[in-house]
Parts: sequence; structure tokens; C-alpha cells
Amino acid sequence: MRRDTYKHQGLRQQLIETLRKEGIRNERVLEAMAKLPRHLFLEKAFEEWAYKNVAFPIGNDQTISQPQTVAIQTTLLDIKKGDTVLEVGTGSGYQACILSLLGARVYTIERQSKLFKRTDKLLRDLGFVAIRTFLGDGYAGLPMFAPFDKILVTAGATSLPENLIDQLTIGGHLVIPIGDGEVQTMWRYTKVSEEEIQRESFGKFKFVPFLKGTQ
Ligand code: SAH
Repeated sequence: MRRDTYKHQGLRQQLIETLRKEGIRNERVLEAMAKLPRHLFLEKAFEEWAYKNVAFPIGNDQTISQPQTVAIQTTLLDIKKGDTVLEVGTGSGYQACILSLLGARVYTIERQSKLFKRTDKLLRDLGFVAIRTFLGDGYAGLPMFAPFDKILVTAGATSLPENLIDQLTIGGHLVIPIGDGEVQTMWRYTKVSEEEIQRESFGKFKFVPFLKGTQ
């Protein structure tokens, strides 16, 4: 197992200061990000990139989200201890671990089998044994484990997947980037009642595409 050295911890603290300067104010989210060694989610050769505020390739044409994006999406979810949370787009597993550190019961789906296997092993090796990982198409959600208090999509969708709204509890949030091209708008949908959905927008982001089917 790779180590978390003083150097990594120092760089991580600097990243937290950068996030504060960028306007991230949620102390619980910052605390979780200060704890989790992000370099362990990147290949060793690219470790130096782990504590810069940038997205980074993790293989299989995918990226680990920019730390600031993780902080914003996590803040929008407003995680309470014991919340049942579905993440769509496991990728490196970093976001799933942040949700777990905040006390959520995490279910996460990835559509690429290679990435799924690699990340599933990493999560076990890191001791995040409570995170439940699934290989599948996130468009379908996870009906067997629904409803979820919170749902997070970490890939750029072109429209709102109705299945995911159906799988929210009343009062639950769905945080999802939606857009036609390379840029998406961050939306937070709230299921106010069975009939009423509210939505708020939170600026522009760039995600890898939310694709149908598995691979
Ligand atoms: N949350 C990740 C970042 C993921 S990048 C992290 O913390 O590292 C987006 C991920 O969504 C990619 O791994 C991609 O393969 C996955 N993805 C795209 N479409 C999907 C779908 N329909 N279902 C599940 N995962 C999907």
C-alpha cells in the first residue's frame, strides 16, 4: 500500500486553502477532503498532480473530478449522517470516499468494467468496505435499493434522467450537470412532494459524458 507522507499532508492542506479562496465554505466537506489522501486515487507516476485544483486522467478516457467540483457537488448534496446516497460514475472512487467520510451510506455505479474492477479493489484496500459498488448503467439508477436521500451524477448528462428522480425520497436532492455540448450547467433538483420538483442552477462545469449502456 502506498503511504500518506508529511509532504502529501502539507500539499493537501494547501489545496484546502486554495478551495477556501475559491469560495468553498462548508467545513465538513473541507475536513473530509483534508483527511482523504487524493494521491492514492491517481497512478503513482502522476502523484504530483493530486493536490492541484485540476481534473486529471485516470485511464479508460475518464477523469477524477477537479477538487473544487467535488467540493461544490458535495456541498450541494447537503449530506447528513446516515443519508442513503447513490453516486453515478464511480470513476476513481474519490468522490464516493468523501461521501462515506461524511457519514453517508454510499451506493456507486460505474459503466466501464475495467475501471469498476480497479476502483472496487482500491476501495477495499483503503478500508472503505461499506461503500457498495455496482457495474451497470447509471441511467437506470438502482431501483432495488431505492429510494435514496441524495443522488449525485458525476458525468455530463444531456437531459434529466427520469429514473433518478423516481428513486429520490421526498425532500431528497439530485445533483446533476446537464448540457448539450462540452459544457454543462450544474442543477440541483429537489423532490418537494410526489408531484412537485424544484430546481436551482449553480454555474457551468465540464464533465466527461454520461453514456448509455455498459462497456
Ligand atoms: N466521481 C468520479 C469522477 C467520475 S468521471 C471520481 O470521483 O473520480 C465520470 C465517470 O462516469 C466515468 O468513470 C464514466 O465511465 C462514468 N459513467 C459515464 N456514464 C455512466 C453511466 N451511464 N453509468 C455509470 N457510470 C457512467
